[in-house]
Amino acid sequence: MDSTYSQSIAPAKVIRGDNAWEEGKQIIPLISQRALFLGRSDSTKKIRLNLIEDLKKNNVTTIPAELNHDCCEEDINQVYEIAQKNCCDGLIASGGGKVLDAGKLIADQLSIPCITIPLSASTCAGWTALANIYSPDGAYIKDKVLKGCPDLLIFDYNIVRKAPSRTLASGIADALAKWYEASLSSSSSNDGLVQQAVQMARVLRDQLFIDGFEALENPNSDAWIRVAEGCALSAGLIGGIGGAQCRAALAHPVHNGLTQLKFSPKALHGEIVAIGILIQLEIEGVYSKNLLAQQAKEQLIKFLSKINLPLSIESLGLKDITNIEIKKACEFILQNHSEIHNLPFPINEKELIESIAQFKRMESVMEANRIAKSK
Ligand SMILES: [Zn+2]
Repeated sequence: MDSTYSQSIAPAKVIRGDNAWEEGKQIIPLISQRALFLGRSDSTKKIRLNLIEDLKKNNVTTIPAELNHDCCEEDINQVYEIAQKNCCDGLIASGGGKVLDAGKLIADQLSIPCITIPLSASTCAGWTALANIYSPDGAYIKDKVLKGCPDLLIFDYNIVRKAPSRTLASGIADALAKWYEASLSSSSSNDGLVQQAVQMARVLRDQLFIDGFEALENPNSDAWIRVAEGCALSAGLIGGIGGAQCRAALAHPVHNGLTQLKFSPKALHGEIVAIGILIQLEIEGVYSKNLLAQQAKEQLIKFLSKINLPLSIESLGLKDITNIEIKKACEFILQNHSEIHNLPFPINEKELIESIAQFKRMESVMEANRIAKSK
């Protein structure tokens, strides 16, 4: 090996379990006594207020702040100023992926410790040293690599179980993408750590296939724990071990491109990534020598359908999408710095547009089949 890699592999400490918060709230004062407490959605406000109340009893002063949109420049600047003005010595981010990303990014900019408390298992954002930046209306702009993973991650089962099951299904799709993308982008890597990360992603995929449905049916099952932690923790670890060489290939670039369009209603990150994986497999089947891509796609469709994830661009909230819009998304997907260039085979704009159009034609058949089966 003739290169040097600097990697942020995992949070300094992870507390997970039924009573993770009970233990975590006693450790937080050792990290921060005056923390900015970041959240967003009204639906989780009550949970956040309980956490803040507990922190008060543990002698931690909290300065509450909320995102107005996604993790966007406007929100980041606004919260950064609140944290600075109040001389916060730490930041606690409690919410879904966008809140966790924004919290990590602001703590990174202020060089203060960051504590993440995921309120769902919808992404591995509570773990990673990365933040995705969006526009105020949710269009993906760029990734930012941070100085490190969070100082503390608290994954409390009783808190995460309260999240809507749709967030877990979305998390499953996002975690599945690790295998489909890393196995493609890192297929020729000589690096042992990357090879091992790809194999971890395969094991995680199998576990999600085996346990995913039961996890969604029964949040009190052991399967739920394995799946929720697979999505929120293991997926992050895979990204940490694999590092910059073991990244996205097509599913995430397709997600990034599709977010440039107007969704109604809004889709979750993993729901868009799920369509991204299907489009990736469609393209692999045509442009790479992967003869198993079609089989992998059929297997995945069956599973996604079982856990009620959207199988079509239409059901994702992009009804009546035009050819001009597909072209706009494809131009974004093919930008110079896009991870699509990690693909082991080239694809040009015309081919990409045709692949997405082909996917759109086939997906209406898939949706029709699903509706017919559910009757
Ligand atoms: Zn993702």
